[in-house]
Order: sequence, then structure tokens, then C-alpha cells
Amino acid sequence: MALKTESSRRDIRISFEFFPPKSDEMEAQLWETVPELAAWQPEFVTVTYGAGGSTKEPTLAAVRRMISEKRLPTAAHLTCVDASQDEVKAVVEEYRAAGVRRIVALRGDPAAGIGSAYTPHPQGFSDTADLVRMLVDYGDFDISVSAYPEKHPESPDMAADIATLKRKADAGATRALTQFFFENDAFERYLERAQAAGVTMPIVPGIMPIQNLTQLKRFARRCGSTVPAFLDDRFEGLDEKPEERAEVAADVAAEQIEDLIRRGIREFHLYTMNRAPLIGAVLERLGFRRDTDIQAAGAAA
Ligand code: FAD
Repeated sequence: MALKTESSRRDIRISFEFFPPKSDEMEAQLWETVPELAAWQPEFVTVTYGAGGSTKEPTLAAVRRMISEKRLPTAAHLTCVDASQDEVKAVVEEYRAAGVRRIVALRGDPAAGIGSAYTPHPQGFSDTADLVRMLVDYGDFDISVSAYPEKHPESPDMAADIATLKRKADAGATRALTQFFFENDAFERYLERAQAAGVTMPIVPGIMPIQNLTQLKRFARRCGSTVPAFLDDRFEGLDEKPEERAEVAADVAAEQIEDLIRRGIREFHLYTMNRAPLIGAVLERLGFRRDTDIQAAGAAA
């Protein structure tokens, strides 16, 4: 793939998603990764929130450090499942005290797992749009929500899915970040349907560079993303060849983004899995340039 010059990538905005570490080893890995990826100058980064609020403290700690030490514009994910409105508002207050001005507002999965029936908490928010309205009332949050180009597993059909997205947009969301997908045609169709339904907020594609195809397939089944057969072909015979596998993974993600750029998309949300090398390889292929001063400052902080 031909490399682009630095200037040709200035109109492309990227964001990175991290998850809060669950062990000392993962903690070390995250803080090694963050300065390396900060050097690619993301528009913002996000930190996920464990199912049912299970990582509230680690999420808050990671977000706090990203903002205060690493000086990164950081969005904290927030779910409202299995929590009263007061409990959710208490988390929002903690986020605000930590300097958070960006939130990824989500419903979250029921404790029994994805696909089980969702029942709002008796004193909780009725749905994500309700949560978004509460956040809008604060007046100063940038609010991202989710979108599902292949529809959420609970949505009976695409029309119902888009109606959910529209409710979140109407409630005041700033943008939607999508679940990962590999078929750009499906994403384009989704965009067209959303726009036809009156959704005007940006819908930013979520790109998942593939660290491990077998694990990805398991995960994709649970969240309703299709893993197309061409990926089996691309990764065939590479199980025991990590270096070649990493090259193919970077090629696949870069080709997907390049194709979306050709279709007019200018913002991308990258699922990093808290690892820098593959993400760096993807961005290098796309002609992005790192700012090593940012990396050095982030590593020292
Ligand atoms: P919504 O988009 O609000 O709703 C999902 C579906 O539920 C709808 O499509 C519809 O089928 C149904 N539905 C919702 N409201 C209504 C209604 N009023 N009437 C009828 N049907 C309705 N999970 C975490 O636990 N932590 C995270 O940090 C996290 N981050 C994520 C980030 C992104 C970018 C994405 C795409 C997903 C993330 N998730 C996260 C997963 C998410 O929590 C699950 O997919 C969950 O099942 C739905 O939450 P949501 O906010 O996407 O739901």
C-alpha cells in the first residue's frame, strides 16, 4: 500500500479505546501503551466501564491519570444498567471532579449477560436516551453513544435499531461510536439509513485491528458482529507465525480504513486492546506520523 504524506492525513481524526487494567501486569502494559499511542495525536481516548459498573474504580483511576498526568482528552464510559439514577449521578460527579468532560453513555449489558432480557432498575434510567438527557442537563459534557452497523443483538430489525440511535441523537448525543465491523458496505448502508431517519450526528466507525482471529470470532458472536470468510483466508496458516500474522492484521485494518476514507469517512475509533504495536503499524501504513516529543513527555509523566 502506498504511503501518504503527513499533510494528507491532517484531515483524518482518530480516537483510541482502552480498557481498565485488571492486574499489575495489565496495569504496567497500559501505561507503557498510552504514551506510545498518544504520540499519534488522537482527538481523544476513551476508557471502558466493566459490565454492570464492575470496573468503576479502575476506570476512574485510569481516566484520572490519563487526564492529569498524560494530559490526554479522555472520555469515560458509563453504563446505567443495574443502577439507580442516584448511583449513576454519583459516578458522574466523581468523573467531573476528576476533570472528565467527555462521556461515552451506554445502557450496558444485564448482569445475566448479553442477550438476556433487559429490565431497567426500578429507580434507574429507562434507557440510554434517558441517561443522555441527564448528562445534557449538566451543560458541558461531550457525549458519545454506541451504534451497531449490523444491529444490536436485541434489536428485532434494523428499523428498530436506527430508532434507538435516533432517540439517543435527539436526546443530545454529540456522536456515535460504532461496534466493530469488517464489511464497509454494511457500514455505508447503515449510515444511509440513519441519515434518512434524520440522524445528523457523526457516526464514527469502530475499527478492530485483529490481534487474534479465534478470540475475535468468539467475541464477535456475542456482540453481533460478522467476521467475514475473507479474514479466514487472509490469516490462513499463520497461527504459528506471529510476525507474519501481525503484518496481515495491520494490512487488513489499514485497507479497511483506507476504503472508508475513499468513501468520505474522516473519523475513526480504534479498539486498541491496550496494545500499541499493531495500532502503530496500522497508522504507519496509512501515512500518519508520530510526534515523539509527545511520547517522551507522556512516558516521563
Ligand atoms: P442501546 O443502544 O441504548 O440499546 C441497545 C438495544 O436495546 C437497542 O438497539 C434496542 O434493541 C434495545 N433498546 C434500547 N432502548 C430501547 C427502548 N427504549 N425501546 C426498545 N428497545 C430498546 N459495555 C459495557 O459494559 N461497558 C463499556 O464501556 C462499553 N463500551 C461500549 C462502547 C461502544 C462503542 C459500543 C458499541 C458498545 C459498548 N459496550 C460497553 C457494550 C454495550 O453496553 C452493550 O452492547 C449493551 O448491550 C447495549 O448498550 P447500548 O448503550 O449500546 O444500548
